[in-house]
Amino acid sequence: MKKILLLTFIIATTLLLFSCALWGGIETEARTDAVPDTESATRATETPTAEPTGNATEQPTESATETEAETEAETEAVTLPGPPEITYDVNAHLGSKRVLIDAGHGFADPGCTSDYLNGVYESQLTYEIATLLAQKLTEKGYEPVMLRGTDSFPTDAEIRAAVAELGMFSRDDVLLENNIFDAYERTLWGNVIHRRNPVALMISLHVNALPEAEYVRGTELYYTVDNGCAEPSAKLTAFIETKLKTAFPDTRLKTEGCVWNDSFIVTKWTEMPSVLVEMAYATNPEDAELLFDDAWRDKDTAALAEAIDSYIATRG
Ligand SMILES: [Zn+2]
Repeated sequence: MKKILLLTFIIATTLLLFSCALWGGIETEARTDAVPDTESATRATETPTAEPTGNATEQPTESATETEAETEAETEAVTLPGPPEITYDVNAHLGSKRVLIDAGHGFADPGCTSDYLNGVYESQLTYEIATLLAQKLTEKGYEPVMLRGTDSFPTDAEIRAAVAELGMFSRDDVLLENNIFDAYERTLWGNVIHRRNPVALMISLHVNALPEAEYVRGTELYYTVDNGCAEPSAKLTAFIETKLKTAFPDTRLKTEGCVWNDSFIVTKWTEMPSVLVEMAYATNPEDAELLFDDAWRDKDTAALAEAIDSYIATRG
């Protein structure tokens, strides 16, 4: 028993330590993925267990320091093969006006920070901005659903019970009763919410970090092509890209298809169209200032809400 407790503690601590790197370094890593072509997107839809393409390691990187960060992050990543078999209705999202908002991190997993955030962590920023996005979606007639609150989240026991009740597949070896609501747990819970009452999509908000290269700034968008909802996710991402480019024409904006990346659980294991938005860089002083700026927050969430509105209005 002691051994089990010790093991659990070690794993929980390890997950906690890695979480920042996971969402900082590894998320950054995916920027080097190739934009998926139609063929790979189609293939991924048909055979979700297709072999990884290896694109993530083939692309050129922006700097040597970034390469080091990526290598480190890759070796630390929690391995979660996937995505799961498609045992769900990939069209359940159609017709829904519910929008699932995942404010990245939270609780024992604070996400990233930097010297420019004055002691504030990513989890607080994502929650505040997610709340603003929820307000804007409500104004447009949608029903926002927050994946987590400020002071509560489903325990692993609750997630397990819901997963069992709904007959969903889950990885028991990954769901370790660490109760930190990490990426896998939040994704499972998002799927539970979706199965009980379908949502149109899930948008995951994050703040990026690259301490080794503070000059890097801007917004990045990710979805996973190796997912049953790859096609609508690509459409959703394209709408967000267009709206953000219009709102912030001078901001660096990268849109990449994440073909195979173990860190992107929230876009790979989700059972609905999903996109991950790295809103700005905590490690860049100008970006860090924006993250606290009310005018920027308002403009950013307005663009996201417009994109979601446009996507839902035009989808098949
Ligand atoms: Zn993050």
